[in-house]
Amino acid sequence: MSERDTILKLAKLHGQPEIFFSIQGEGKSIGVPSIFVRTTLCNLHCIWCDTDYTWNWVGTRFPHHFDTKPGYQKFDKKNWIVECSIEAVAAEIIKFPCKNVILTGGEPMLQQPALVLLMHHLRTIAPDYRFEIETNGTMVASEAFDAEIDQYNVSPKLENSNNVRKLREKPAAYRFFSSNNKAHFKFVISEKKDLEEVDELIGRYQIAPEKVWLMPEGNTRALLTRRRKWLVEVCKMRGFRYTDRLHVQIWGAKKGV
Ligand code: SF4
Repeated sequence: MSERDTILKLAKLHGQPEIFFSIQGEGKSIGVPSIFVRTTLCNLHCIWCDTDYTWNWVGTRFPHHFDTKPGYQKFDKKNWIVECSIEAVAAEIIKFPCKNVILTGGEPMLQQPALVLLMHHLRTIAPDYRFEIETNGTMVASEAFDAEIDQYNVSPKLENSNNVRKLREKPAAYRFFSSNNKAHFKFVISEKKDLEEVDELIGRYQIAPEKVWLMPEGNTRALLTRRRKWLVEVCKMRGFRYTDRLHVQIWGAKKGV
């Protein structure tokens, strides 16, 4: 293990590493009080990403829906990344009265060795810590990482994300997650045609319908409301689960909540 593996690169929000206590807003654990640790960096560049401050750096050419928003600018990398020791991150986490920790991003699986150390360290402090990870499902977990994780919230990206297919669909990773009992799939749906892609993917990788959550794409209550009704009907007909975006319903587009 290199010295780099003992350092976590986290997103910086309001000048601090982004670690906060809230409730899970999406997917299988919706509503569960949780501590969020937001890692920075991502291997994808979704056009609607609401954590674009983890990858949309000055000097890159990735398009984003916000490009047309007055005043929107790409992010200066050196101001939006903070490097923290495992001990420092753990010290923040143990301040909160909660044992469900959600490792999110960016793409947290880019930093598996450091996250293994973090999870192990926290369990030496209290064995009942529980760890979920939010991942785009493009990377296979190492054995050590898989041993520590309790739940994978896999959100594979579709064509609507504007990532090319060879980047967003990694067959080995799909196979890893589809055969892992701890993994659940959450697909972000913008339009009805996205469902054809979901059907193809779950057929190709033999993903059981009860492991599939559909979520409307949208960062505003109005957009979620518009897409919710037809998506619920799709879930009823196909045996999928529906998930809303609870944090958007409660706090709108506010970050760090
Ligand atoms: S995979 Fe997630 S963090 Fe990365 S660009 Fe897409 S939505 Fe954003």
